[in-house]
Amino acid sequence: MDLTKHAFFEGKIVPLGEAKINIATHGFLYGTAVFSGMRAYWNAEKKSLYLFRPYDHFRRLLESGRMMAMEIPYDEEGLIQLCIDLLKADNYQQDVYLRPTIYKADMGIGVRLHNLRDELSIFTSPYEAYVQNDTNAHVTISSWRRVDDNSIPARSKVAGAYVNSALAKTDANRAGFDEALVLNSDGHISEGSAMNVFMVRNGVLVTPPITDNILEGITRRSIMEVAKNEFGLTVEERSIDRTEAFIADEMFFTGSAAQVVAITKIDHRPIGSGSMGPITTKLRAFYEDVVRAKNSKYASWNVEVK
Ligand code: PMP
Repeated sequence: MDLTKHAFFEGKIVPLGEAKINIATHGFLYGTAVFSGMRAYWNAEKKSLYLFRPYDHFRRLLESGRMMAMEIPYDEEGLIQLCIDLLKADNYQQDVYLRPTIYKADMGIGVRLHNLRDELSIFTSPYEAYVQNDTNAHVTISSWRRVDDNSIPARSKVAGAYVNSALAKTDANRAGFDEALVLNSDGHISEGSAMNVFMVRNGVLVTPPITDNILEGITRRSIMEVAKNEFGLTVEERSIDRTEAFIADEMFFTGSAAQVVAITKIDHRPIGSGSMGPITTKLRAFYEDVVRAKNSKYASWNVEVK
């Protein structure tokens, strides 16, 4: 991490090196923080930086906060402006990752959500590729189950819930796989460790419904819209069994960090032809232009940093 880059911390923009919390902070002790992972993309022709769907990211962040009894004195617009100020402070001319977090900021012992002060922090860093084999990922079905809505809400980006993602990811990587596919407690495919999942079967695009313990991904929503509007695909939200994934024609992950990642093998079984399929290829290319503000039809998704 570059500690000279700027961060928003306790109401001010400061160098990241100064944005420190105490070891007795509630959010650190109990994982009582909610966060967002969003990106800004550099458009070299326009020589400008664009946040991708920041309103949707902040709406989800504030909703996650509501589930965790958190309150901050900012709405979506105010949060977008903070990001713009922060990105301008570092004069980025490259792709950037942003990590806004709301956390329980009081110090001391006592696990709960109520009667605790909430703080907002945001840091940024130059973006680096998230999944190495993003055109031919080999994934495994994780032995870990996805957190259930009645234990920790999967639709909320709660810091503590990411222990679940970390277990799935580390075990997959240590076993030689690029990523994990995680089943929910019903045994249906929910998502990757930190990415939503899609399957193509007989020309139809299928993705698990928001009631299958998934995060309501913004890339997921964007890809569904692009698939319908631009490629005339039928999109179905329904549960996917483990073995249905084995016989899919194509599969891919979506996420803000990873964008669109082709899954070409699951537990040593080739998916479709065993290489990135035509629908995944088309969606990936189209999406790459949309996020980089190169497609005026989707300009409402791109917020210029100026
Ligand atoms: N699922 C989980 C668990 C995630 O952490 C993420 C990344 N935010 C996603 C899905 C993808 O969501 P999005 O497209 O909004 O980044």
